[in-house]
Amino acid sequence: MRTGLICPECAEAAGGIGTFFVETIREDGLYTGKCPNGHDLLIATQTLRHEMLFEIALNAIADGYYREAVSSFAASIERFFEFAIAVLSSTRAVAPEVFCAAWKKVSSQSERQLGAYVFLYVVSFGAVPQLLSNKMVELRNEVIHKSVLPEKRDAITFGAAAYEFIQIGVQKLRGSCLADVNNILGQHVAKIAEKMGSRYPRTFQVTPTALNVIQDISVGYKPFDQLLRDRNIRV
Ligand SMILES: [Zn+2]
Repeated sequence: MRTGLICPECAEAAGGIGTFFVETIREDGLYTGKCPNGHDLLIATQTLRHEMLFEIALNAIADGYYREAVSSFAASIERFFEFAIAVLSSTRAVAPEVFCAAWKKVSSQSERQLGAYVFLYVVSFGAVPQLLSNKMVELRNEVIHKSVLPEKRDAITFGAAAYEFIQIGVQKLRGSCLADVNNILGQHVAKIAEKMGSRYPRTFQVTPTALNVIQDISVGYKPFDQLLRDRNIRV
């Protein structure tokens, strides 16, 4: 799995036009080393975990690993729950250390996180969030718990459902509490920056991921089949 990064020095030399190169994805979102032209790099990406997992899932489809695609889409949904719970807690001015302590109580069981999401959504918006259909939940459970091997079309169907679920959720969060979306994103970036220590020069980059909470999608977002076409995935 690779991600696109831009070397700032190369971009400056080219009059501001960035050149992409790829690196293996890292757990901490921090990239060091040299660009293909030998410039020293220290780059942090602000990609959120659910965005990265979604990217991994799309790559898995492209590479023909459908089981891995379904499990990464499912993990992406779970990490989106975490992000949304953090945002909705932020709207109520929950202190980060209180949030962390509370999260520890639910961190090892995804069903608890789902419950937290549903009720935080209900108290925030006065409506029940739309979740995955029973059919999609069944597909996920068969793949993850019963070792069923999904076909390509299963992975695509599940991916489309995951995409709709997350994008609708992002639309809702951005539409009603954009400042808190930015606050949680800022905390995420600050955590990565902490690991940079006092090393300079440094840059922060937004990787071109399919899901991107920074994007304004209030008037719509790219259809899932377009995402597949962009990645040369044939349906
Ligand atoms: Zn360079």
